[in-house]
Amino acid sequence: FAMAYDDQNIFAKILRGEIPCDKVYEDEYAMAFNDIAPKAPVHILVIPTGRYVSIEDFGARASAEEVQGFFAAVAKIVNEQGLTENGFRSIANTGSDGGQEVAHFHLHILGGAPVGPMVAP
Ligand code: 5GP
Repeated sequence: FAMAYDDQNIFAKILRGEIPCDKVYEDEYAMAFNDIAPKAPVHILVIPTGRYVSIEDFGARASAEEVQGFFAAVAKIVNEQGLTENGFRSIANTGSDGGQEVAHFHLHILGGAPVGPMVAP
């Protein structure tokens, strides 16, 4: 069964402005901010403004407008950050096997240098 959304998760608090973040983008559908513990020269987290636990929850329950708005924001962000020429990696850790720590869907955007093997050897 799908995990219930917890309004006290850290990204929900960031969305409500209760906890500060280093914001790089915001619109109706998405917000993006720098990861507090960056794993690459550029490490941005893009989150939907809606209450979704994971990429699976987002894909299953979000409206077409929300999905389109989210990925349009991703495209704007990677362009604004100058990541399209040399590329970047996007990761959505999901659940326990995926090592997901925060239960609000977030897409990691990693770049600014080669980011190494896809998964740890
Ligand atoms: P996950 O393992 O859930 O995919 O990744 C969660 C990410 O959120 C981690 O990379 C972690 O560094 C980041 N993170 C956790 N708490 C905060 C916070 O309060 N602010 C910011 N900007 N990033 C956070």
